[in-house]
Amino acid sequence: MQTSPQKTSWFPIMLRLDEARVLVIGGGNVAANKVRLLVPAGARIELLAPTLCPELRQMADDGVLTHVQGLVSEEDVRLRLPGCRLVYLATNDPTLNRSLAELCQQHNVPVCSVDDPANSSFITPALSTRGAVQVAVSTGGAAPVLARRLRAKIEEILPAGLHLLADFMQKARLPLRERLPDPSDRRQVWERFLDGSGGSLAMSGQTEAADRELNRLLEGHTRQGEVWLVGAGPGDPNLLTLAALRLMQDADTVLYDNLVGPDILNYVRRDAELIFVGKQRNRHTLPQDEINAELVRRARAGERVLRLKGGDPFIFGRGGEEIETLTEAGIPFRIIPGISAANGCAAYAGIPLTHRDCAQACLFITGHARADGTLDLAWETIALRSQTVVIYMGLAMLPLLCAQLVTHGLPADWPAAIVERGTTPQQRVLTGTLTTLPEQAAAAHVSSPALVIIGEVVRHRVLPLPSGS
Ligand code: SAH
Repeated sequence: MQTSPQKTSWFPIMLRLDEARVLVIGGGNVAANKVRLLVPAGARIELLAPTLCPELRQMADDGVLTHVQGLVSEEDVRLRLPGCRLVYLATNDPTLNRSLAELCQQHNVPVCSVDDPANSSFITPALSTRGAVQVAVSTGGAAPVLARRLRAKIEEILPAGLHLLADFMQKARLPLRERLPDPSDRRQVWERFLDGSGGSLAMSGQTEAADRELNRLLEGHTRQGEVWLVGAGPGDPNLLTLAALRLMQDADTVLYDNLVGPDILNYVRRDAELIFVGKQRNRHTLPQDEINAELVRRARAGERVLRLKGGDPFIFGRGGEEIETLTEAGIPFRIIPGISAANGCAAYAGIPLTHRDCAQACLFITGHARADGTLDLAWETIALRSQTVVIYMGLAMLPLLCAQLVTHGLPADWPAAIVERGTTPQQRVLTGTLTTLPEQAAAAHVSSPALVIIGEVVRHRVLPLPSGS
């Protein structure tokens, strides 16, 4: 049996207990806490305990549970395990709890030894209930007090009439399904209903008015696809905008590229279709014109397509090309800016991008070589002392970039930094000069994505507290 803190997370599900046999061992307040949760779920509760606290006594008298009286033995429990959906162990004898937990596990019956996650195969979350709406909070048994705190906070923000709204939506569900067979159509109507007056009408119990509003939306419903070009920021999910988050929750399909990591994709609606479209060196991905065509094709089919890009879509993100295609095809689109790598990396590395003393301007350039391997940049305007130069995609050409800047007039010991995987837990920052940086980066095996920052601002670097939450 497991004793150390568990390394994987618990898997949350909602379990049907209607008419299911549930065994509760123990007759005190701890058992009563669990029984109170089990009763509304319709469980048939069998409670084994020598004595009962007054609340449980009352429940036994009322026929809410069946009390099996007497000292609890392993044999009693073993006999009752077949056909049992769940077992709660709530005796005040930890040794007994542990041996009974083992017994249940041997018989493959899910068991919760209260306040003892190490000996449990399931745990009960802190729960906020508003009619059909249940919000469960779990810390995986690590910190029940914290879970209860969070639940209290959630309780505060759940609107008072939420149960009425859930009731309304539940009742309208089947009729709506008949009128709109396609799930994505139905979702669109519900979202408009909730965004408009429908939600508050239903929550305040004005069912007829809410019904009229729903019908109005149904009659006016025509399916229209859209494309949302959204910047996902440089990596840390804390840097997503609220607008990005909302669209990630609403999209039918998400086309994302390799700068958008799993931490960010975690925030996409669970049943949205996720499509990886690149771009990564040496990895087969969709060419840009196919991405454009895919956006158009899906939007025409009525999908709400999220084109999720690292950083900001309009900074070296080819967002411009995508919206040109969409405009030509007559597809409606929205653009949500994101925090670009320059902003994110500079902030998390503690390097200001401008500074009154030394940098009156900041230039973003791409260090991506052309197909023939050359860099075609206006070196005279880049190699200036009074500005900061931020180079995107500059890793591969770093030696050439640094050498050219010295050739065009910057000092050989001009400050330069490179930020690898900025804003993520793997962020690394190297600082040096135009002469040393290429070697430092090679020696440290810096890999993409990495951002180069050149200028005296690097000397003003300060180390911030870790960002994010
Ligand atoms: N639209 C993006 C840039 C895309 S170009 C933006 O606004 O940030 C891709 C380049 O961005 C990478 O080669 C790298 O130079 C830079 N980049 C993106 N994310 C980064 C990160 N987390 N850390 C360092 N550089 C990053």
